[in-house]
Amino acid sequence: RALARLSVGRGGPRDLGAIRDGLKQAERLSATLAIYPPPPAQREGELEGEGILDADKTARPPRSPLPQAGGGRQNALSPILSALRQQPATQDLADRLAAALDETLPALERDGGFIRTGFSPKLDDYRTMRDDSKRLIAFLQQKYQQQTAIDALKISYNNVLGYFIEVPAKKADSLLVKKGDNDNPFIHRQTMAGAVRFTTPDLAQLERDLSQAAERAIAIERELFAQLSSEAIRLSEDIGRHARAVAALDVASALALLAVENDYVRPALDDSAAFAIERGRHPVVEQALRKSAAAFVPNDCGLNPATRLWLLTGPNMAGKSTFLRQNALIAILAQTGSFVPAGSAHIGIVDRLFSRVGASDDLASGRSTFMVEMVETAGILNQATPKSLVILDEIGRGTATFDGLSIAWACVEHLHEVNKCRALFATHYHELTSLQVKLPHLSCHSMQVKEWKGDIVFLHSVGQGAADRSYGIHVAKLAGLPPAVIARAEQVLHTLEKGEQSGAISKLADDLPLFSAMKEPAQKPYASAVEEQLKFVDPDALTPREALEILYELKRKSEPVIK
Ligand code: ATP
Repeated sequence: RALARLSVGRGGPRDLGAIRDGLKQAERLSATLAIYPPPPAQREGELEGEGILDADKTARPPRSPLPQAGGGRQNALSPILSALRQQPATQDLADRLAAALDETLPALERDGGFIRTGFSPKLDDYRTMRDDSKRLIAFLQQKYQQQTAIDALKISYNNVLGYFIEVPAKKADSLLVKKGDNDNPFIHRQTMAGAVRFTTPDLAQLERDLSQAAERAIAIERELFAQLSSEAIRLSEDIGRHARAVAALDVASALALLAVENDYVRPALDDSAAFAIERGRHPVVEQALRKSAAAFVPNDCGLNPATRLWLLTGPNMAGKSTFLRQNALIAILAQTGSFVPAGSAHIGIVDRLFSRVGASDDLASGRSTFMVEMVETAGILNQATPKSLVILDEIGRGTATFDGLSIAWACVEHLHEVNKCRALFATHYHELTSLQVKLPHLSCHSMQVKEWKGDIVFLHSVGQGAADRSYGIHVAKLAGLPPAVIARAEQVLHTLEKGEQSGAISKLADDLPLFSAMKEPAQKPYASAVEEQLKFVDPDALTPREALEILYELKRKSEPVIK
């Protein structure tokens, strides 16, 4: 980025500093890594996809900090290490930048102040002159104070007058003598409310010297900046190569650290149609749960040519989405060359990964939530191949129940019969599980829960078979829906489940107002007249007589109830 900014003339000293620091770090990295022998090359054929690796033989990351000697064989690290090794030209540039630039640098080259003392003798001379002039100005102030016997006299600077001598108005008279008097060097510049400003020929000369020296120093710094920038730009190809090598090492070492710290395994990759994950975990949810000291429940996933489509049902909040996404993430991590969060993983290379999860709209482009869902589903059904991996989370829930169910039903059939891809399909349409009889490569799985003392305990584990309920009302209760709504929802569900489907809906509608069936009112509907009046009574402000009158009035208001 620094190089790009310098190339288009938008760079500053900090960009040169970034190149200096980057090159130095690359050199240190290269020297550090040079003392380690290269790690052993991959086992024969492993990365080339020759032969299927047994998932049980999946290797664990090496725990030893020192890899075994590899006898100098080429491995994935070799090109990175050689790209990291510096050429004499970049080495020179790094040294020159280190010698030229200060440690802390300004963002802009415009005002100078970034070249190290000692780098350019000419620059140092001008800087000394500039700083000396400042010192001389301080001397001059002292001299004038003594000469005029005005202690309050001071030399200041502003953008309009430049340097000027200022004395309080009541002491200025002695300096305001007629023109042409050679003994008086003070020349009047400005009269203010409480002060008068002067200059002198000596001060004017000093000012000229100072500004010339400062301007020349800045000009030299800018020239040096331009020189160093063009040297860096000339070497941009080499600098780019070092940067890419550092980036590659960064990714590789970060993934290696992640693998060691979080117990990831090396996946076995081949050309088969397998997707066999044992004790797979979601890398992000796992980390989040760790913070709250909760344990992530690992789950297996076994897609293969015989069972390539898993239909996943289960209650809300049971972990369906997590399971779908963790498997997609494991596929991505494996194919980026990373170890994966699982006990073991055997993955037949995936040509494309498709996902349809969550609910979002794209109103600006004229697409509603359901439209977005359908457009994404269409993309999957039209493009997924037998080598693809597809995760679909609750297709069809953004429309009427029967429309949604029909779409989901047809999608499952299409994935099974036409796409023939490996797929995980999560749904709350339990009716879909009946497709298991008809579709030989489909298998039903469900998230397990336990009912305990009227409550639901989520086990977060995936088991065989279909779920029978979604426990949505239970989750709604956990989320804090008002008790009246929960009770009413349970009533509605009960009526619907009794199977009086046809008449049930109209019966519910006839039942309005909706909460009339509730046994207890959710809130006290109104305050009594006595309570209303008491709200406005301030006992401390009443005379005994007023208090007595109010008491009679309250008694009168409460009588009908007492009777
Ligand atoms: P819904 O049907 O309501 O969308 P869901 O079945 O898709 O729910 P998730 O969103 O996957 O459920 O999971 C809900 C929460 O359960 C997660 O945020 C996570 O905290 C927890 N969870 C999910 N899977 C696991 C797991 N394997 N181990 C531990 N906790 C889990």
